[in-house]
Amino acid sequence: MKVLVINSGSSTIKFRVYEASGAQLTEVASGSVERIGEEISTVSYRGPRGSIEYKVRVRDHEEGMRHVLRVLSDPERGVISDPSEIRGVGHRVVHGGSEITGAVVVDERVEGVIEKYAKMAPLHNPANLMGIRAAKRVFSGAVHVAVFDTAFHATLPEHAYLYAIPYEYYLKHGIRRYGFHGISYTYVSRRASEILGVPLERLKLIICHLGSGASVAAVMHGRCVDTSMGMTPLEGLVMGTRCGDIDPSVFYFLMKWEGLSADEVYDLLNYRSGLLGLSGISNDVRVLLEEYRRGNPAAARALRVFAYRVKKYIGAYMAAMNGADAIVLTAGIGERSPVVRKLILENMENLGVKLDEARNEDPASHGWVISSDDSRVKVLVIPTNEELVIAEETLKKVRELEGRGGA
Ligand code: ADP
Repeated sequence: MKVLVINSGSSTIKFRVYEASGAQLTEVASGSVERIGEEISTVSYRGPRGSIEYKVRVRDHEEGMRHVLRVLSDPERGVISDPSEIRGVGHRVVHGGSEITGAVVVDERVEGVIEKYAKMAPLHNPANLMGIRAAKRVFSGAVHVAVFDTAFHATLPEHAYLYAIPYEYYLKHGIRRYGFHGISYTYVSRRASEILGVPLERLKLIICHLGSGASVAAVMHGRCVDTSMGMTPLEGLVMGTRCGDIDPSVFYFLMKWEGLSADEVYDLLNYRSGLLGLSGISNDVRVLLEEYRRGNPAAARALRVFAYRVKKYIGAYMAAMNGADAIVLTAGIGERSPVVRKLILENMENLGVKLDEARNEDPASHGWVISSDDSRVKVLVIPTNEELVIAEETLKKVRELEGRGGA
């Protein structure tokens, strides 16, 4: 049985295909359709019998999805001979609000929830929904499953998810912390438990997902008890272009002093702030690290603010959980930058965190543990794998339905 995983953005469709045998899933192909809606789009594919790449005009997601089918069923290099071989399609969806607390088979109600929360994730949910609708038409015989980034945080206690504004706005608009990156947290917490050889139910983990979007989660005995992103992915850490935590009055004063509209300030905090805004150079940590090495003070400033914010959250979550067994770093920056990891984790010995310099330089060769042997709190680097979690959840739903004689 084959499962297709779709991650659909406003102008891209990324996909992976897995072969399921028993509970085991093996990736067999992957690819993307990029720059949908522009003059020229790029379709690329990599499978067991070679790669395909071509440029073509792709007007919308449905056309894009037809190209996905086309490369997957390519007679020479494809992995299927008929769309019906794809029995499950798993879709990544960013915001499911408080209504959705796990993976679900997509139906009208689910589509309605994704639409409802588009107002809080305007960049993601509408694009996710376009991908779902397109895939339902192109892979019409498959079970379509939505896996949500917010679902992992359904266990947040009230004291962690409420904002201190009049309670009526929580009731009226659902203004509260939801949290994101939950699919990554699901994978990483499970891997951390495997690496440490301790069941998740006995672990207190602080997981730092540091990509172009970044957040931290406090995971206590397998349940998320706090996270840094909020009602939207703007809160918390400093990110590539997002400001993260900020005095809300800044919004008001920027409007007054710069004569900006609410939309313009919202835009500024989402796209022109964070590492890009602080450095004036780039939102890409690789570029900033290069400048930092050359002694550029603007790059150093941005990286220090970024690292300090992560450090503060680690401290806060140690307090929230009365300690931690392990700190885990993942995603682009967390997985690949020893310099940023060091900036975050140095000078924390009194909290039981001791980094081993050599291990930090090459985590894979040291079983992904980068703390020293006498560090009370272990530090791990774990490459995330969100697609695998989506494929697993999809497979489970397909099997459940087939078990009931459906699908
Ligand atoms: P997303 O999926 O959120 O776009 P990723 O998890 O791929 O993000 O992470 C993107 C971030 O990782 C970017 O800031 C990029 O600069 C950074 N990154 C990628 N490779 C490296 C590296 N070798 N060293 C430092 N940062 C890196």
